[in-house]
Amino acid sequence: MFRISHRATALIDDLVEKAVEWVDSQRDAHRASAFPLPEPERTLIAPFFTGKTVSQVRFRHIPEIENPAFLGFVEDSDGRPLDFSQMAGITFNDTVVLSDAYFEETDLVSLLFHECVHVAQYQQLGVEGFMRSYVEGWVSNGMDYFAIPLERDAYDLERQFRAAPNRPFSVEGAIALRLKSRA
Ligand SMILES: [Zn+2]
Repeated sequence: MFRISHRATALIDDLVEKAVEWVDSQRDAHRASAFPLPEPERTLIAPFFTGKTVSQVRFRHIPEIENPAFLGFVEDSDGRPLDFSQMAGITFNDTVVLSDAYFEETDLVSLLFHECVHVAQYQQLGVEGFMRSYVEGWVSNGMDYFAIPLERDAYDLERQFRAAPNRPFSVEGAIALRLKSRA
């Protein structure tokens, strides 16, 4: 991770503040209509979560994930604006929104597992801590989504799950170790 300039620090603070507001409002908007982790995916995923993640997570289908207005000016590492409508799912604290636009082509159990990892990350970091780590990880890695440490952790753990679905480990424990190693 390279050093973040003063200008970038101000940008990060501003992005984190707006992102926290966005996450809280999206969570509240979707939570009441959301459903618990469904079967048969629950049976496959639950052994990997030793904490409250599986009992607290809720999911909701929507036609397409909308871009938050506050990110209108931000571009990714390829110079393109971030486009949330291309995402299959997004986690707002304990509530996950799934895009119908990508539902057919998505491996559902992997997607639900991945989003459950984010729920567990939110539990350990809080909404503000999660967004600060996420935004700093994104800015300090040249706006490359796949280099964000919280995403790398989620993809790593998702890969471990897919490679050995019958060998459960504690996702919460693995997350705590990874967060500690970067603290
Ligand atoms: Zn993710």
